[in-house]
Amino acid sequence: MDAKGVIIKVAGPLVIADKMSDAKMFDVVKVGDKGLIGEIIEIKGDKASIQVYEETGGVGPGEPVVSTGMPLSVELAPGIIEAIYDGIQRPLDVIKEVAGDFITRGVDVPKVNREKLWAFVPTVKAGDKLVRGDIIGTVQETVSVLHKIMVPPDVSGGTVKEIKEGEFTVEDTVCVLETKDGDKKLSMMQKWPVRKYRPYHKKLLSTEPMISGQRVIDTFFPLVKGGTACVPGPFGSGKTVIQHQLAKWADTEIVVYIGCGERGNEMTDVLMEFPHLNDPRTGEPLMKRTVLIANTSNMPVAAREASVYTGITIAEYFRDMGYSVAVMADSTSRWAEAMREISGRLEEMPGEEGYPAYLGTRIAEFYERSGRVQCLGSDGRIGAVTTIGAVSPPGGDLSDPVVQATLRVVKVFWSLEAHLAYQRHLPAISWLNSYSLYHSNIKEYMKENVSDKFIDMRTDAMSLLQTESELNEIVKLIGVDSLSFGDRVILETARSLREDFLHQNAFHDVDTYASIEKQFKILELILRMHDISKELVEKDIPFDKVADMEVREDIARARYRDDAEFVKSSDIMEKLEAEREKLIKEGVF
Ligand code: ADP
Repeated sequence: MDAKGVIIKVAGPLVIADKMSDAKMFDVVKVGDKGLIGEIIEIKGDKASIQVYEETGGVGPGEPVVSTGMPLSVELAPGIIEAIYDGIQRPLDVIKEVAGDFITRGVDVPKVNREKLWAFVPTVKAGDKLVRGDIIGTVQETVSVLHKIMVPPDVSGGTVKEIKEGEFTVEDTVCVLETKDGDKKLSMMQKWPVRKYRPYHKKLLSTEPMISGQRVIDTFFPLVKGGTACVPGPFGSGKTVIQHQLAKWADTEIVVYIGCGERGNEMTDVLMEFPHLNDPRTGEPLMKRTVLIANTSNMPVAAREASVYTGITIAEYFRDMGYSVAVMADSTSRWAEAMREISGRLEEMPGEEGYPAYLGTRIAEFYERSGRVQCLGSDGRIGAVTTIGAVSPPGGDLSDPVVQATLRVVKVFWSLEAHLAYQRHLPAISWLNSYSLYHSNIKEYMKENVSDKFIDMRTDAMSLLQTESELNEIVKLIGVDSLSFGDRVILETARSLREDFLHQNAFHDVDTYASIEKQFKILELILRMHDISKELVEKDIPFDKVADMEVREDIARARYRDDAEFVKSSDIMEKLEAEREKLIKEGVF
């Protein structure tokens, strides 16, 4: 323990203490007689401003402040998966056991279990030369996650002097490394300051899509592994369903869900629902590869401010093992509001709508911690952190500073719109207002793994949908009968794109997930149907006959067909070509 100061002022979550000249910025401090946990966020002379992560009621001037000399850090070790933490990585269940439902102040509980034994299986032997980041062994943490124990980034490499095998706690020494600075004992636990990104070897271009099985996402507005996306979620728009679908189906190994709830019950919903979700690929609970960070509104705002850093640092740690990790932050608007409140208390010069001037920088720094990287270590493994941030602007107003600052950095925007949900267009992601800037990133991947026509087909489909919206304006004014048959074909195809492709029932056993091959094949059918319809009306086949082609029903039902069977089949395409032939013949005679 170094600096010891005295409280001179308490203002909500902010405490000012005197005689703190020995303390450093971002040190964690124990505040008041109760020893509440706080973090130094400003030092002026020997006065320190401290944001306190617990309610400060009853704490007053004259009480002591003691610095721990350490920055706010997370503990990284087996035992994190399946945990439910608050914003500063205190396990909620343990706090509850120790302190009951409400009296949580000043409770010091270990972030990861110190007693539990984990079966450590070494992957190196004595005499091996290691560099930082190298994997020394593994622990089967849950049925779904193999936890890789690594040489921490802040330990320089060396030669393995001793390596153990068997059951150990996270604090036991499992490896002794002979380094140039002397022997280093390694346990299964690392600590890392949350506000500092974890180092990697180098950042790589994100060229692999993060397939989610959701057609509107994968085909129209794709995300990549290591990418960033933003989704607004007006009430009732289906945000929860989208989040669950992504958590369940996205091809990532680990999910970190950071919840900054506004109302207490929002987070309670997450806490109630997430633990009951099943991982469709393994049949195991989804929690077996999930870490939950939960801030309810009855926790002080400062803990919310810290929670996104706690979450992303945990995500980076699993990335360092070579995993693909999805981070879902919901909602980053609540995080920004916490920033605004603290900044206001510090009496900083406010920027737009009272948010601090550094709002944009903080948001950018958060999303920049995503990415696909070559990890530290000599094996060249690759890991990725993909971040999906929800925003909840007041009144759904997208000109809100938090939304604007977010849109400046993220590359994908899924515009979830309540009016679409109301019309039962689900998922309610607008095909006109959403975007993805990753199409060129995944071009090669799609060409090699699906089809070289994929990207062009997506562009064609998109332009048909845009034309539909323009035509709808005309239809509103003068009715559908005034349109040419060519335009009516476009309306018909756009309807099919919306209803047979973009609609996706999250609760239907088959429709809930579509492989990228299946997505391609349905799109191919719809676009071939379009070309044929155009050709037929040009050949003066009556529009009604074209619109009533039987095969349309088969296309509409394609999404309910078994994925593997459908991908191999060609019956619908054959039927489509046969009906075309038939209509042409009938038309001629
Ligand atoms: P929010 O979290 O935005 O308030 P929900 O995710 O709870 O909204 O969704 C609102 C309703 O819409 C729910 O009843 C849900 O069943 C339905 N819904 C949303 N998306 C889908 C979908 N893809 N398929 C089927 N039903 C959906």
